[in-house]
Order: sequence, then C-alpha cells, then structure tokens
Amino acid sequence: MEVEKLISMCTHCGFCLETCPTFSVTRNEVHSPRGRIEAIRSKIESYGLQTCMFCRLCETACPAGVKYGQIVLPFRKRNVKQSLFLRSLESPRATYLLLKGSQKISLKEAQRFKEFTKGLKVERQIEGEDDEPEIVLFPGCLEGVLFRETVEKALNFLRKRYKVKIINGCCGLAHFSAGNIEKAKELASRLGTIKKPIVTLQSNCAAHMKEYKELFGLEVEVFDFAEFLIRKGVDLPRKEGKVTIHYPCNAYRKGLTKYVVEVIKKMGINVREMEDPQFECGSGGDYWITHPEMSDKVREIKKTKIEKSGVNTVISTNSVCSLSILRSGFKPLHVADLL
Ligand code: SF4
Ligand code: SF4
Repeated sequence: MEVEKLISMCTHCGFCLETCPTFSVTRNEVHSPRGRIEAIRSKIESYGLQTCMFCRLCETACPAGVKYGQIVLPFRKRNVKQSLFLRSLESPRATYLLLKGSQKISLKEAQRFKEFTKGLKVERQIEGEDDEPEIVLFPGCLEGVLFRETVEKALNFLRKRYKVKIINGCCGLAHFSAGNIEKAKELASRLGTIKKPIVTLQSNCAAHMKEYKELFGLEVEVFDFAEFLIRKGVDLPRKEGKVTIHYPCNAYRKGLTKYVVEVIKKMGINVREMEDPQFECGSGGDYWITHPEMSDKVREIKKTKIEKSGVNTVISTNSVCSLSILRSGFKPLHVADLL
C-alpha cells in the first residue's frame, strides 16, 4: 500500500500515545507515533523520526490498524557509527571481536558496552552439527557471545530429543529496523534457504523471521524457543522460584510472549506480573548505543515497573533486553537457563 494511503488510515485518536516509550519520556507529540506520522504527512524534517525506537508497540494499540512501521521505515536514517555496529553483527567472528575489543578502548560507545555487559564474559559462539540434523538452533547475534551458558543449556536440552545443527549470525532485524532493507534481505536470504525447523533463542528474531514471507517472499519454519517447547509438547521439568516476565516488543506484537508465560507456569514457577510487561526495556536494538540519553530514560521507567513486581529475577528471552535489565540491577534469565 502507498505511504499516503497508510497515513490516511490514522484518525489522530491518540490511543497509541501511552504505549510509546519516547512519548512516555518526553510527553512531547514530536516523539510520538501520531506526531511522527503527521511529520511525514506534512513533509516536515522532524527529529522525532530519528528518536523512534522502532519497537512498533504503537501498532498493537491502534484501533484503526495503522501500519506504523511501513510508514516510517523509508524515513529512517543511519549514521556511520550505527552502520559500523550493524556490520559487526553480520559475522559471528566480527561480533566477538567488537565486544572483546570494546573492553579495551575508551570510545564513548565502548564505555556503554562496558557498562551494559559488566559481569558478563565475552566468548566465542558454539558451533557444531549432529549427523543428519532434524532442527537448527539459531542463538542470535549477541546471545552466543555474551550468554554462552544459555546457548549450552538450550543445546543440551534439545539434543536429548533432536539432532541439532547450530547456525550463528544475524537474522537482519537490526538492519531492517534501521531502514537498511537491502542488507536485511541479504541476511534473511541466508536463513531462508534452511529447510529444517529453526528454533531461535531470541524472541524478537523469531517475530522478525516469521515475517520473512511477507517482507521478502522467503518460506522458513521458525519457532521461538518457548513456542517450540509448547507446540511440540516437550516435557518440562518442575522448578521452584519466583520470577517476573518481560515481553520483548516484536515478540509481543506477534503474539509470541504467551508461550514464554506458559512454559514458566507449566514448570510450576511463581510468576509475579510486572506492570505493562511489554513496555520497552530501553535497549531498542542498537538504540541504547545510538541514543543513550533517551534510552536511559526509557530504561528508568521500565526499572520502576519491574521494581513494583517485588521480584529481582526477570525472564527475558532477548539478549539486548537482558542487557538493559542487567544494567538496571536485576537478574535476567532466559527460559533455557531454567531447564
Ligand atoms: S515504534 Fe515505538 S518508539 Fe516508535 S512511535 Fe511506535 S511506539 Fe513509539
Ligand atoms: S496511529 Fe492509530 S492509535 Fe495512533 S493516532 Fe493514528 S489511528 Fe490513533
């Protein structure tokens, strides 16, 4: 559909405003979905278009079904640093070297990496392939480097039931959100040739990969990890404990977070709901590096919502969300960590 037609669907009702993290921080329409749509309609060069976190939570609240993402995507601009960071995600080796290197240099962005990854070990991704693999485990670009133990746990659990091949790398979501559709398509094409079911440890990657067909005409059978456990009826161990659950934005929009809740409840773990679990964690893909001030303000709001749950352990099935949660002083755990 043409951008003008998509824009004309917006009735200016404002139901999307409170779902928007940047509006929640600024209370300024310039940084709201409605304001951004209006800027595009009026052909105004608005800074608000660059402060958007591209979480697309506004789409989940819109009664008119406005496809905000499709309207705004062509107007996203990338700066040099962002492009370099995104390029490093394309190869598992480059991601490892970037994160390892950031611990030794004093650039502002490297400092940010250090703050957000404090206490985590930067490691090389696990590789491997069983004979005649039945499923592919796709950990996601940061998980294997920063949360290797989680990948090991998921792999061990799956290997007791299936023959597994690991594929590392990037699904293209970060490039897509930054408006680099060509690169997003190129990365999707690599995964689009896989004919086995793909299980990913990144709920937001799962959400994006489920849209490969609509976006790029690529057919893949992809599951978020928790979704796979539920839909395949995998027996789950009983565990004790008390957690609260964060809903990664894209996964929430695609209806995937319900599987995470189901897995945790089936395991017998006590869930203390947090206020607006889908509210942005503050990371927004690479937003925590490119827009540190706004990101920190969003993270503060999220922190308060988590604190109100009264629980320190937060289930987070997306690695950049986990970094934000960790930075706020909580303990992020993936579903796979509990197996
Ligand atoms: S995508 Fe997220 S940050 Fe951007 S306008 Fe929508 S809700 Fe706000
Ligand atoms: S985008 Fe949707 S929710 Fe937001 S103002 Fe327009 S019609 Fe209302």
